[in-house]
Amino acid sequence: MDTHITPTICRICKENCGVLVRQAHEGDLRIMGNPDHPLSKGFICFRGQQFSDIRNHPERLSKPLLRQKGGWKPIPYEDAMDIMAEKFNRCRKMYGAQSVAFLKGEALKHQEIRGYMKHLAHAFGSPNYMSVGSLCHQSLAMGHGLTYGGIPKPDFQKIKSAVLWGTNVAVSSPRLFSRIRKAVKKGLKLVVVDP
Ligand code: SF4
Repeated sequence: MDTHITPTICRICKENCGVLVRQAHEGDLRIMGNPDHPLSKGFICFRGQQFSDIRNHPERLSKPLLRQKGGWKPIPYEDAMDIMAEKFNRCRKMYGAQSVAFLKGEALKHQEIRGYMKHLAHAFGSPNYMSVGSLCHQSLAMGHGLTYGGIPKPDFQKIKSAVLWGTNVAVSSPRLFSRIRKAVKKGLKLVVVDP
């Protein structure tokens, strides 16, 4: 197999850094920062670098599993869809469409799943759509929307002080963290509330 280098973005966290994925053969994947990406400019954090460990992990779930007596059995996607359709339709027949809630996971930030899931819930007849963002992001977006009219982005070149409240940006947003660290070196007063 020839070596391929593919420019893409890292989807592990919301920074979405530009990365280059180099694949020499199946199982040999290297991920590097992309120096040509306009925002991340070659930055890549430890998690992004090690993503191939997740991809190649022997216990990574790569096909549907059906729980049966005695354990889990791999099944084809077509069978998994048939089983789910049968169960959904049974719920709708017995209790009405609104008895079913659709919860979207955040599998490495494939945001397009949101659209598919909403369409599915709508077509099924249920208004009950949730995502992981229902726990935290929606309240953040609503609070900022009501207070500022949108989600603001601080300008670390200009602000004089900042409060980090219940967030560990060193881990969750490494590029934001490096901007904050630069600003602190230039005199930004940083208050951290760490519950
Ligand atoms: S900060 Fe790390 S985990 Fe987040 S997108 Fe960039 S490389 Fe990926």
